[in-house]
Amino acid sequence: MKRIALLPGSFDPITNGHLDILQKGLQLFDEIIIVISSNENKKTLFTIDERYAQVSQLVAHLPNVKVITHSRGLLVDVAEQLGAIALLRGLRNVGDFEYERTMGRINKDQNSSIETVFVLADAKHDMVSSSAVKTIVELNGEVSSFVPDSIAQALKEKITAYPVEISHEH
Ligand code: ADP
Repeated sequence: MKRIALLPGSFDPITNGHLDILQKGLQLFDEIIIVISSNENKKTLFTIDERYAQVSQLVAHLPNVKVITHSRGLLVDVAEQLGAIALLRGLRNVGDFEYERTMGRINKDQNSSIETVFVLADAKHDMVSSSAVKTIVELNGEVSSFVPDSIAQALKEKITAYPVEISHEH
C-alpha cells in the first residue's frame, strides 16, 4: 500500500523552508500531496491560482508529489478521501510547536486514524517564513536565499518596494 501524506499550508508564497520539509517528507512517505488552502477569510498576497501555479512549477520534476487546492471542509476528511495516512507539518520553534500541538490534537480528535507528523527543517531555514519574506521585499531587501528564483521574481512583480525614508527635522 502506498503511504501518502498531505503537506497542508497557505504557501503565500512557498519558501525554501517548505521545500525542505517536502524533501524530508519524501524520505518518509511514498507520495506527498501538497494541499494549498484558499481560505476566503485569510487575506493572501498571491491568489489561489497563482500559488497553485507557483508550487506546481517548482515540484513538476518530482514524480511522487501532487498539488491540490482546498477551500472547505476538514483537512482530515481530505486526507481520508485521498487515502492519506498523515498530515506533514514543519516545526521551526516553540511558537510553531504550541500552535501545531493544538492543531494536531484537534485533528486527531476529529479523525483518530490520521496522524500528524512533524519534521524539523535544516537550521538555515529556521528564520524563513512566508510573512518575513513578504516584509523583506516590501522594505526593498534581498530574499534570494529564502525562496526559489521564480518566487523572488513573483514577489518583486507583486510588491511595490519603498525606498529608505529618514527624516532629521522634528
Ligand atoms: P499555515 O498557514 O498553515 O501556517 P504555511 O504555508 O505558513 O501554512 O506553512 C505550512 C507548513 O510549513 C507549516 O507546518 C509550517 O510550520 C511549515 N513551515 C513553513 N516555513 C518553514 C520553515 N522555514 N521551516 C520549517 N517549517 C516551515
